[in-house]
Amino acid sequence: MEKTQIYESVKTRLIRYAQIDTQSQPYSGHWPTTEKQKDLARILRDEMAAIGVSDVFMDEENCVVYGRIPSNLSADRGMAVGFIAHMDTAPDASGCGVKPWVLEGYDGGDIVLNKEKDIVMRAQDYLNLKQYVGQDLILTDGTTLLGGDDKASIAAIMTMAEYLYNNSQIRHGDISLAFTPDEEVGGLARTLDLDRFGAPYAYTLDGDHLGWYEDETFYASEAVFEFFGRSVHTGTAKGIMINAVDMASQLMAMLPQDEKPQYTEGIQGFFHVISCHGDCEHATVRMIIRDFDEKNFRKREALLQDCADKLRKQYGQERTGLTITHQYSNMKEVLKDVPFMTEILKKSIRKAGIEPVCEPFRGGTDGAALSFRGLPCPNLSAGYENAHGRFEYVPIRSMEKNVEILLNICEEYADIR
Ligand SMILES: [Zn+2]
Repeated sequence: MEKTQIYESVKTRLIRYAQIDTQSQPYSGHWPTTEKQKDLARILRDEMAAIGVSDVFMDEENCVVYGRIPSNLSADRGMAVGFIAHMDTAPDASGCGVKPWVLEGYDGGDIVLNKEKDIVMRAQDYLNLKQYVGQDLILTDGTTLLGGDDKASIAAIMTMAEYLYNNSQIRHGDISLAFTPDEEVGGLARTLDLDRFGAPYAYTLDGDHLGWYEDETFYASEAVFEFFGRSVHTGTAKGIMINAVDMASQLMAMLPQDEKPQYTEGIQGFFHVISCHGDCEHATVRMIIRDFDEKNFRKREALLQDCADKLRKQYGQERTGLTITHQYSNMKEVLKDVPFMTEILKKSIRKAGIEPVCEPFRGGTDGAALSFRGLPCPNLSAGYENAHGRFEYVPIRSMEKNVEILLNICEEYADIR
């Protein structure tokens, strides 16, 4: 089969970008959370300039790269639209010394990632491999993640830009591009400057499986309980000691035991204890609350307040602290007012010959946060598989198809108005 120019471009781009270590780091105390993400940002800035993209700008301090492809329509036609992908890779697996390689024409069997270290991806463990028989896959050497999350999206967006400049017959309005840091550590694209970005509508590209998209996310908040006990010698503790660890376990027993991530799916919400540290004197329980439905979400927050009140009643007001911090909301709340965005997305996926699949996303996206800042932002999958781990891979055809989908979206927005 003849490989298209798009095919070669997404392939070489992902291989190039994957080798740049852009791992982000939770709780680093600053944004971007790691300086090395700027290494990729600078490369993307220079590549965009070389392609001919307008208004290329790298916000050095915040590590955000911008560009714009000017409309080729008459001034009164077309609607501006933007595309956003994240540059960082997940802290879950090493992103240092990534050695991407291409397996041509996957035969459906086990894949030896690293002969020397005897690292094999078994077809029976990774059932998603089955659908890619006959395709070319970009893989790791089994010691690091690949970073197709989300560099497969960056490769697709850059290739789309290149293609638009080389094929001026494709009609499009203004197209805004942005690459952002720290998505994997809850960055929520907070430093994206919407004025500079320009487009009033955008799509984030992220997530696994080709043809999947999301226009619904969780409502999310984080709750931190602090317990202050009273420690005395155990021999003379009767009636005096208050054990903060007991208070913490009492709290956890009060939570609905079947509403945890490991027992829920689909549109069910949950409480999840992320960590629990403590001793007799002091204990901290950190948890997250998730729900698709706002009313249920508020009920969950109220339930935690109730738990705190009960413990305060039992042990004294000052011995239980609770702080609830809002993280993000279900973007459906915003996107329901711009239904054409999802319609265009579905139509563009279908036009590329793929049946779109949508599931409420059991997590958050940068797009969820951006939607509430005034930039409605559904998400199109990047097409990577087994993200955040050493067995991550990207079928090259998935990236190629995503370029086609992006070009379709551009053409659809050219017809608005
Ligand atoms: Zn991602």
